Amino acid sequence: MTSTPVNRQTFDEVMVPNYAPQAIVPVRGLGSHLWDQEGRDYIDLAGGIAVNLLGHCHPQLVQALKDQADTLWHLSNVYTNEPALALAQQLTQQTFAERVFFANSGAEANEAAFKLARKYAYDHVGPQKHEIIAFEQSFHGRTLFTVSVGGQPKYRQGFEPAPGGITHVPYNDIEALRAVISERTCAVVMEPILGEGGIIPATAEFTRAVRELCDQHNALLIYDEIQTGIGRTGKLFAYMDMGVTPDILTSAKGLGGGFPIGAMLTTAEIAASFGFGAHGSTFGGNPLACAVAGKVLDIVSDPALLADVGRKHALIADQLQRIGDKLGIFKQIRGAGLLIGAELIDAWHGKAGEFLAAARAQGLLILMAGPNVLRFTPSLVIPDEDISAAMAKLETAIEQVLAAQ
Ligand SMILES: *Cc1c(COP(=O)(O)O)cnc(C)c1O
Repeated sequence: MTSTPVNRQTFDEVMVPNYAPQAIVPVRGLGSHLWDQEGRDYIDLAGGIAVNLLGHCHPQLVQALKDQADTLWHLSNVYTNEPALALAQQLTQQTFAERVFFANSGAEANEAAFKLARKYAYDHVGPQKHEIIAFEQSFHGRTLFTVSVGGQPKYRQGFEPAPGGITHVPYNDIEALRAVISERTCAVVMEPILGEGGIIPATAEFTRAVRELCDQHNALLIYDEIQTGIGRTGKLFAYMDMGVTPDILTSAKGLGGGFPIGAMLTTAEIAASFGFGAHGSTFGGNPLACAVAGKVLDIVSDPALLADVGRKHALIADQLQRIGDKLGIFKQIRGAGLLIGAELIDAWHGKAGEFLAAARAQGLLILMAGPNVLRFTPSLVIPDEDISAAMAKLETAIEQVLAAQ
């Protein structure tokens, strides 16, 4: 076997150009650190876009994966599979849900949720009750149905005709929702905190009103917790802190701690509309993915760990506040738990990418949430020392961007 060394240039030679990856090639990770091909050390506050929930190569996840790898990799849903059922038991014991459908990604979990909402309305009312209401700036994935429900038109431009029966209204705007919801609405779908759309939390009033309007119009409430779930906000799921319960909830990203898996959770009554043959996935419920996710849930369900997420939030938010006060660069720090956004002041809107690049040069990996917001989604078990080191690097990076003006 010959193998050609690969670098950033290789990407352009062999990959579809739908991504524009940075030049660094991380080759190894441990905890909140990554090392690139040159052996450079980075502190990782991006976590593979809110995925590496317990950092890189968490020893208990590595062990769970190895144990399962020695036992059984794949079965398909033609047979009953232990890791999938054990994970479904965990999820139903710890949430409102009574039934689970497994997929392999967030988009697939949402695809299942939207199809189920339509099917449930079809079964109980009729085909005219098929409209889905979603929010502007929301993100629900990249399949044709999920970009159509998502509230960012750029993701569906050029892919039309898009599926119909979908309406978008501004987030946190109760009157706008009231104006469009009707007996034809089968579901309203929301992120408890807009993630890709800029780390914008739903207000308490809006959260309650959405639930009430859904109840009044016999529409299902779908929570897309793909980014907010699995302890990210300091609760196992964000809804648990919001005084409302959704009818369908989707999870992915952190659920597998870096192993691909998605899940749709719902009640037994709603689940009944996905009768035999109504939906499916070859890989959904894959034993490797479910074994790892089961271990993630074991670890994350610990109340002490969840409480510590709130403490770490304060450590980071306080530092961001201090840096913002000193350098006059942030308009607002927001978010919950370890899903934190720092919106740049208007003069720097559109330029979040410059700060990411400067941070990278300092050995710090962060994300943006749209062009105006720096986003931080570190591991839930990131050591305090890594937080302080990361914030010092961020401060230097921002100073350099400002000095280069
Ligand atoms: C990331 C994300 C998705 C899509 O997940 P994929 O695994 O990329 O398909 C959907 N909804 C939200 C809220 C997300 O953050």
